[in-house]
Amino acid sequence: MTEVVQTPSQPGTQFAPRVFSGIQPTGGLTLGNYLGAMKRFVDMQDSGVETLYCMVDMHAITMPQDPDNLRRATRELAAGYLASGLDPKKSILFNQSQVPEHAQLGWIFNCVARMGWLNRMTQFKDKAGKNRENASAGLFTYPSLMAADILVYHATHVPVGEDQKQHIELTRDIAAKFNHDYGVDFFPITEPVIEGAATRVMSLRDGSKKMSKSDPSDASRINLTDDADTIALKIRKAKTDPDALPSEVEGLEGRLEARNLVNIYAALDDSTPEAVLKEVGGKVFSEFKPMLSELAVAKLSPISGEMARLMEDTAEIDKILGEGAAKARKIASPILDQAYDIVGFVRS
Ligand code: ATP
Ligand code: MG
Repeated sequence: MTEVVQTPSQPGTQFAPRVFSGIQPTGGLTLGNYLGAMKRFVDMQDSGVETLYCMVDMHAITMPQDPDNLRRATRELAAGYLASGLDPKKSILFNQSQVPEHAQLGWIFNCVARMGWLNRMTQFKDKAGKNRENASAGLFTYPSLMAADILVYHATHVPVGEDQKQHIELTRDIAAKFNHDYGVDFFPITEPVIEGAATRVMSLRDGSKKMSKSDPSDASRINLTDDADTIALKIRKAKTDPDALPSEVEGLEGRLEARNLVNIYAALDDSTPEAVLKEVGGKVFSEFKPMLSELAVAKLSPISGEMARLMEDTAEIDKILGEGAAKARKIASPILDQAYDIVGFVRS
């Protein structure tokens, strides 16, 4: 289990440990989201520290979204969190747009972050693609809002996948610049928590590309809602090389697809790539892939079954999110008030 320890933001100052993370309701959840984020969120809710988990619907609209799909994806994501073991009695579960303090602090952070910092963000470059001029301004300023998502709770730890490391570094830069510019020690310098065997699950079709829920190719990913046959088919068709698996991790050097499947197996099995290779070293993919399918189906089908059950009663989901948002606002509101005082806003 992840150990969450107190982090000094500056020598002499302590912030109580608090965990925050979010997922965008931009489509079905993938195995990458589950192993890189959700499964680890669930582990952390039992670490004895306050945990807040969010559906970041305001980030989702940085790319075009159909309103009905967005509503559905938000509820389905909530169902995914709950089906993966998130307990709303232990964790605060809510959607971002129901807590306006995120956007309010996000504006202040737009005025703290520098254009040069945002220009370096690889996610913007990846998502804007060749047509930068036509990308939304929100896609560009996304990292300031993400910093606000985290810092409006004074969160000290953020479990994320490897792809979000750069955004957490920016969050730290924003906190440090705010603290420095206003001569305060108000925001913690948040730690990313990137750990386990699956911090970067790769596409099943291209071992150099991250598995993403917004990838146009459905064959590139395993969705949490895929049935057993679909999972088996996607794994059978996953790109691999002709060689047998090695017995040591060094043997995975330069074999991106092989490494990815071994990492997925290890993460699903709560094991390590080293231990998996001890067991399967020497096997060819036609032997290893069915083992992986069986494990994936065993771990994922209870989750997809529970998600389907929860989606039958979206009123219950909406109730959980409303209660979560009220709890989240109780924490965020006084922190935003203090930030407003620090920057000099008059409030009568
Ligand atoms: P999108 O394509 O819309 O950006 P996404 O699949 O990248 O969707 P996000 O909502 O951006 O999902 O990310 C949610 C969380 O899942 C983040 O913590 C992110 O680091 C993690 N994550 C996303 N993809 C992967 C992956 N392939 N491997 C491990 N973690 C991942
Ligand atoms: Mg993403």
